[in-house]
Amino acid sequence: MDADGQLKEEEEELDPERDARRRLALAQIRQYPDVALRMAARPVEEFDDELRSLTERMERLMTDALGIGLAGNQVGIIRRLFVFQPNEDDVVAVVNPEIVERSEESSVADEGCLSIQGILVPVERADTITLAGRDANGAEVRYELDGIYARAAQHEVDHLDGVLIIDRTTPEARREALSLLRPRIVLT
Ligand SMILES: [Zn+2]
Repeated sequence: MDADGQLKEEEEELDPERDARRRLALAQIRQYPDVALRMAARPVEEFDDELRSLTERMERLMTDALGIGLAGNQVGIIRRLFVFQPNEDDVVAVVNPEIVERSEESSVADEGCLSIQGILVPVERADTITLAGRDANGAEVRYELDGIYARAAQHEVDHLDGVLIIDRTTPEARREALSLLRPRIVLT
């Protein structure tokens, strides 16, 4: 199970056009170790046309990249906002999101990230959460989330604090992931 990662990619063969669109989208998403992924985002203050076009662009990118969440930091916008799927059918933007309730029950599952491609690591997350925030027009929104949707929202809130799945996993999985991510020096 992935959070904003490649959930659908593993379940179906992509046709060449869809795969090309996915690659194009991924090329526009900041990749580890981009410094934007480590920054704490500031709250959004203006709910204007610029914000609305940004969230629309992020929704398109997320859908094309076959993710179920995408945070501002991942497109170099260090503001507290993300887009995600709160259920199977919808894609929404949440601005200045806060997790206002979380269950004591938690589960460990493998998570991926659109900014750390090719890596899946086990991460423990609360099973159910209540997410509050605003939409791109400034209206208050509230989502009761469970399963993969609760997991995705917790993953995206982490992005806004500069926290990544490799910080949330076991020491062993982290070591293994970092060794895969280390740039390879090619001697010719
Ligand atoms: Zn991510």
